[in-house]
Amino acid sequence: MRAKLVGKKVADKIKEKIAGSLIGVAVGDALGFPFEGCSAKELKEVRFCYLPQGSYPAGTWSDDTSLTFITAESLLAKGRLDLHDLAQRFYLWLKEGYFTPHGRPLGFGRATVRALWRYAAGLPPEKAGGRGERDCGNGSLMRMAPVVLWFISSPEETLLASVHEASSLTHAHPRVLLACGLYALLLKGLSQKMTLNEAFLYVRERGMCFYSRNLPFAKEMSHFDLLWKGRLFHLKKEEIRASGYVVHTLLATFWILARTNNFREALKLAVSLGEDTDTTAAVVGSVAGFYYGLSQIPPSWCHSLIKGDHLLYLAFHFAEKMEAR
Ligand SMILES: [Mg+2]
Repeated sequence: MRAKLVGKKVADKIKEKIAGSLIGVAVGDALGFPFEGCSAKELKEVRFCYLPQGSYPAGTWSDDTSLTFITAESLLAKGRLDLHDLAQRFYLWLKEGYFTPHGRPLGFGRATVRALWRYAAGLPPEKAGGRGERDCGNGSLMRMAPVVLWFISSPEETLLASVHEASSLTHAHPRVLLACGLYALLLKGLSQKMTLNEAFLYVRERGMCFYSRNLPFAKEMSHFDLLWKGRLFHLKKEEIRASGYVVHTLLATFWILARTNNFREALKLAVSLGEDTDTTAAVVGSVAGFYYGLSQIPPSWCHSLIKGDHLLYLAFHFAEKMEAR
């Protein structure tokens, strides 16, 4: 009986972490969305007691949340990563405003839209994603949490191949795949009960090992030198960029998590960097939500999300499915 209770407690925590990761995306997105494109200077005086109001009502979320939760829905419906199903659901979002707060897609990125048009024109989904230097935005990293969580207990090679496949639907440049892979390794490390510092070391060790012996990725390694050499964690706030470039988003996420001790502080710091505020905060929210758990997300933020009940229902449903696997 005692062993059973202990086991249940651990399982509950896993559920709380997975639900926390998905809700973390939505909260980060809604917190940052009204400030997208603002500079750090402009955001100096902003207080984050409640979800802020911009052009839309407070609690409005954008493409980051739509595409993350649509991905979770697709994984649940198909029981596996099915790029065709994912592409169809994403296209429905773009064309008909499926899974949006106000009936139309908000804040979509150029690379994602172009890829979905290519898919609609008949290109297979694995070939739809852009491969050029200009396709290195954070539009796939921002929706990757459910894929990582789905494969988090799989062997490392399976996890990384799945993340690369999911990214390629809209973003197929090796630099973007690498960034998504390093993000996946961070969550995998944290799922193994590592501290954040231990998980950063794990990412550096496993990321270096996996990607440096693989040619399309080896050429991209230098873009992440700040991480490999550990200098990232010594940078000052003014030296951190948080634009829509995937390398900026990934490195800012690591830096923010290293600088903060709870969900609230991590998300506030993410938004305060300015630039691509909603996506930086969404990506940070996915890791902080996983690490600290759903219960550590401030209720004043969590309960103000538009269609929040549906988001919570789906996050718990996804977490329960993961727990049972
Ligand atoms: Mg957005």
